[in-house]
Amino acid sequence: MLQSDHWRNSVNRAMKAEEKQGFINTGAVGGFSSFLLDLLAELDGVFSAENLASMQRIAEEYHEVSPYKRRALWRELQELLDKTTSSDAPGLASGAICGTTSEEASGTFRTTEKVLTSLEVQTGSICHPQNLQYIKGVGPQRAKQFENMGIYTAEDLLRHYPRKYEIRSKRRIQDIQDGEYVTIDGIVTGSQVTKGKVKVVKLNIKQDGRSIHAVWFNQIHIPKQYPDGTKVTVTGKAQWRTRIPELLASEIRKGLYEGPAQKMVPVYSETARLNSKTIREIIQVILPQADRIFDEFFPYEENNLMERRQAIKEIHFPHSAETLKKARERLVVEEILLLQLALARLRSPGPQKAGLVLNQGGALVQKFASGLPFRLTGAQQRVIREIFRDMGSIEKPMARLLQGDVGSGKTVVAMAALLQAVGSGFQAAMMAPTEVLAQQHYESLQAAFEPLGVKVVFLVGNQSKPEREQILGQILSGKAQVVVGTQTLIQESVRFNALGLAITDEQHRFGVRQRTLLQDKGENPHVLVMTATPIPRTLALTLYGDLRLSVLDELPAGRKPIITRKISDRSRSSMEKFLKQHVAAGRQIYVVCPLVEETEKSDFVSATQKADELSRIFEGSSVALLHGRMKGQEKEEIMQRFRRGEIDILVTTTVVEVGVNVPNASVMVIEDAERFGLAQLHQLRGRVGRGQEQSYCLLISNTRDSARLNVLCETEDGFRIAEEDLKIRGPGELLGLRQHGVPELKLTDLGTDGRLVEKAYQLLQKVLKDPQKYEKAYQEVSRLYPKEKIGVN
Ligand code: ADP
Ligand code: MG
Repeated sequence: MLQSDHWRNSVNRAMKAEEKQGFINTGAVGGFSSFLLDLLAELDGVFSAENLASMQRIAEEYHEVSPYKRRALWRELQELLDKTTSSDAPGLASGAICGTTSEEASGTFRTTEKVLTSLEVQTGSICHPQNLQYIKGVGPQRAKQFENMGIYTAEDLLRHYPRKYEIRSKRRIQDIQDGEYVTIDGIVTGSQVTKGKVKVVKLNIKQDGRSIHAVWFNQIHIPKQYPDGTKVTVTGKAQWRTRIPELLASEIRKGLYEGPAQKMVPVYSETARLNSKTIREIIQVILPQADRIFDEFFPYEENNLMERRQAIKEIHFPHSAETLKKARERLVVEEILLLQLALARLRSPGPQKAGLVLNQGGALVQKFASGLPFRLTGAQQRVIREIFRDMGSIEKPMARLLQGDVGSGKTVVAMAALLQAVGSGFQAAMMAPTEVLAQQHYESLQAAFEPLGVKVVFLVGNQSKPEREQILGQILSGKAQVVVGTQTLIQESVRFNALGLAITDEQHRFGVRQRTLLQDKGENPHVLVMTATPIPRTLALTLYGDLRLSVLDELPAGRKPIITRKISDRSRSSMEKFLKQHVAAGRQIYVVCPLVEETEKSDFVSATQKADELSRIFEGSSVALLHGRMKGQEKEEIMQRFRRGEIDILVTTTVVEVGVNVPNASVMVIEDAERFGLAQLHQLRGRVGRGQEQSYCLLISNTRDSARLNVLCETEDGFRIAEEDLKIRGPGELLGLRQHGVPELKLTDLGTDGRLVEKAYQLLQKVLKDPQKYEKAYQEVSRLYPKEKIGVN
């Protein structure tokens, strides 16, 4: 069953999102192009065959072409949609395809009625209550349809929360406004059905001497079901363009209106086969089961929350706006709290033991700091103090998240912590997500620590067997005091003598479980995770509610803002001139491309091709290629040459996205910039602006108006960028949550629910302090988030 506003609204929403996000095929869940294809199936019979064919072609092409070409397709689609509104359904005003549109849909209607009647028969005695199929009236077919929505059990269904609510109120005909959604009751005084392909069915309904026409399409059974003289209540969207108003009816019932003057009716997200009304009716039927399914697990009263079962009932069928608000509050707080707790439990399974007291590194740290070519920023000093306080406390091991925008100087802070551990007689490890970054860390640690007499070793995947054996031996004996490496560090063969501190750099690139595995290499070591992805506070509290937060909110002095510009293909030649000037002045340049090699299907710029092209254009300069598919050794050599200034232009992919630090590089060129995510672009830009020179970031894009690129040109503030990203992409994608097995938030909007997230965070602190009192909450977490389902990367 299609409701005009529904499909049209969802198309409009997806179209807008797609435009806003820069035509990257993300305007709808599961991809904009697949969304269009799905939609086509629904619009059969609504649009002309010719228009449908055009839409089909657009949907198919959309998937394959560049954002630039998509823009043209998008426009074409927009025109089609505009056109179909006025000409395709003759006699229907704009958006007037309402009620059911096909036989199949009236089938839906009948099934729904069946559901209701059959349930009346067997109230309360449902044999297999958890499985939807066994709810009589749902049946295998409908159960399948629910499965396609990810709904398998009565509990799932009760957690399929309304998308919004319609406020319905009983009205007098003369008070109706055009466009309003209303409920009218009266007596049927006549009917008519038009001829032609689309049958327009009208019922004439009289209420206190005034008339209204209720309108349906193709539902020719209506006049028979509601003959003249029948008392009816009809709900729908009003249109008052002629003398007698029309009601594009979506629901009709026998009998005059009874009940509250105003009613909030839930609207559910629906699919082609399962419409909101059907879902609502089934939910209404199983709602009493909430009492059995949703056990209260939290002392709700003392925390000023609505009781759980009541909240579930209220969120589906609210009594009033206030009760709905309380219900939603309860469920949002619950959603965040349980997720926080699941993640906390993953990070530190089992009861907390005492922390190692590591406070003997003072002399080493002093020597290190006085050897630095710069003074630590105030923020660095403060964060180091915070870390040392945790490391020196016997109460429990440190669990701290260090957040600092790109270039804020996190490495130095990490170094101080490493030395504190080493000075106290323990080993320390630092894990980085890429070989390029691990190598860079190794080199800087080596340079800084060797003069202090601290032994640093490097462990990555591509080392020869004898070399590896030797390093593993040093780690096991304790000779290696600091160990730097990639994910190799968590392999089973790696055993420490006494690991006191585990640091993860760019932690967002790791799964939760990988971090825990590093921790497990020691007996309750202190843990520091670092990230350059500034996370909006709400998200940080949600994901890291159990970690203490340190923020480096000050960039080292003397940094100049990076000048960021969006340029189109047309300006390439002037850009090349600009780059030549920089190379001539001894500066270095990154050119980042979205792909390594050309593929047939895409016309994105590939790094290999770009490197060839630039070697020709910049004859006499040194141009090199670096990408993730190269061998470790090769990568290392190229990075070293780039660091030493032997390479002028480094053509690369996102392998340089995180952490890479070459202060003499002052220009970052990003090809097909719209292809990258906002946070990613911010990270890439962060590779320049690390020295004294004025730096530039040039975003090449032919998309004239991309919300994301505009944000980047406007600001360098990572937190603002992250907020925008959160708005544009939603939290799941922002941190690759889904990929890490973290479930989606069903109800919480991290953009607007800040207050509730804070509340959940406060409650979490209570729960973590007193596991006994909150045992039921822990049980609920185990039930909802079984360990094997979450955190695997
Ligand atoms: P990030 O936080 O992105 O990991 P890095 O630790 O790589 O940043 O530091 C970026 C650059 O800033 C490095 O070249 C580092 O030596 C330099 N740096 C760090 N702290 C300071 C400081 N207090 N003053 C000046 N430069 C600093
Ligand atoms: Mg870094």
